[in-house]
Amino acid sequence: MAIGELISRGFEALAGMLYPRVCEVCGRGLVDGEHTLCLDCRYQLPLWSAADFTDNEIHERVMRQPVLKAAAYCHYYKDSPYARLIQDIKYAHRPSLGREMGAVAARELAKRDFFDGIDAITVVPLHRRKLLLRGYNQSLMIARGVSQATGIPVVETLRCLSHGTQTLRGRWQRWLNARSIYSADIELPQVPAHALLIDDVITSGATIMACVEALHRRYPSMQVSVMALGLAR
Ligand SMILES: [Zn+2]
Repeated sequence: MAIGELISRGFEALAGMLYPRVCEVCGRGLVDGEHTLCLDCRYQLPLWSAADFTDNEIHERVMRQPVLKAAAYCHYYKDSPYARLIQDIKYAHRPSLGREMGAVAARELAKRDFFDGIDAITVVPLHRRKLLLRGYNQSLMIARGVSQATGIPVVETLRCLSHGTQTLRGRWQRWLNARSIYSADIELPQVPAHALLIDDVITSGATIMACVEALHRRYPSMQVSVMALGLAR
């Protein structure tokens, strides 16, 4: 475990002792039986629910790469309180919130057998400089929650070779930039037959698409599915 992640966990444990548990969306105190979100906020959460995991709008966003199954937990509307929930995982030193939401999302998707046939969970990597600044990779935290809920192991396969930039205009330019920065060059004791690639939010799809391409470049016969907590609108 990275030192940064340990420090974040320490802060969280301390905060848990000092402050009562509250809903991560509305701030109301949680009662027994409620976890992370109060019942009202959980009920109003804009769940993503496509009829078909093998052919849906996420496939359209990653159209340049073959993806077997694709799913998101909820719709991600910028500035909504639910978006803040996901932003906090990334920017507010909340790795445990990532694990909690990963497990919540996995339990929801497991009801529809989304994880059947998947033998490993892998994640969109962070560049090491970003990892040093943030202390942890938010996608890895979400993946650990998914792993905890499903029993499928997490295997890190990808590295982020350069910073890249998020400010490029246009889908094609973002795709060209993204595909040059990911590489599946981590040595694996056993190559998964069907890996689930996890990201926090899918926006243009360029990052996920580049990671899927990197996996297929290295392991041509690997089947890849994708999952995110949020699908940006
Ligand atoms: Zn609430």
